[in-house]
Amino acid sequence: MNISLVRFGFDREIRAGLIESLISCYRDVFAFEPWSEWLKCQACSKSWGREQEPFLVSRVCPTCVQPLQEFWPADQVLRDLKKEITADASCWLAINHELEVVGFSWGYPITIRALEEKLDIQLSQSLSHYYGCCPDTVVGYQDEVGVRKDYRGIGIAHDMIDRRNDDLVAQGIKIAITRTRQFPGASLTYQWYSAAEYIKVAKYPCDDGRVIQATTFEGLKERLRLKPAMKCE
Ligand SMILES: [Zn+2]
Repeated sequence: MNISLVRFGFDREIRAGLIESLISCYRDVFAFEPWSEWLKCQACSKSWGREQEPFLVSRVCPTCVQPLQEFWPADQVLRDLKKEITADASCWLAINHELEVVGFSWGYPITIRALEEKLDIQLSQSLSHYYGCCPDTVVGYQDEVGVRKDYRGIGIAHDMIDRRNDDLVAQGIKIAITRTRQFPGASLTYQWYSAAEYIKVAKYPCDDGRVIQATTFEGLKERLRLKPAMKCE
């Protein structure tokens, strides 16, 4: 499969249509399992994945009989992307031969103090304990990674993550941080990062299964590849 990786940024010269295609890829990835974020009911907060499409032809909530809304409307995704993919972020996209975005990955440098605020969780003590960081230490937050269903299992996520990590390391960053889900049902990224020796440094007080994992960038490329291949792409 002929896939090329391109570095994307709102401040960069970009190919026409890349933003629209990125938004469409983002919506497509999260519409399917395990996220199933395709349609939602604003009345009862229930959501459905694309797998349920045949049962939702009329697009009304089976319980409330209210019209269903898109889980990720394109304009909201665009707003989020502009917030996340900042000038110092590293964003890599996988493009197929038809110039469609089929995968995405981004992350950015951020101080521990700012990350605590963003993620609404205490991290300083734990990161100081494990890595000797202080609240002003800049870490690399590994934000999103996703690959379209029909392009998984061929190493695209690995390649995009390697490029992203290289960019963060080039900025002198030593520690990688990510947020994953340990339960119910450990997310694929949780399993993947745990196998690559990430440490669980925090969990949310509400005990909803979301955890913060951290590791050093040193040797990470090898650790992500040497472990048994995870189907996280
Ligand atoms: Zn409903």
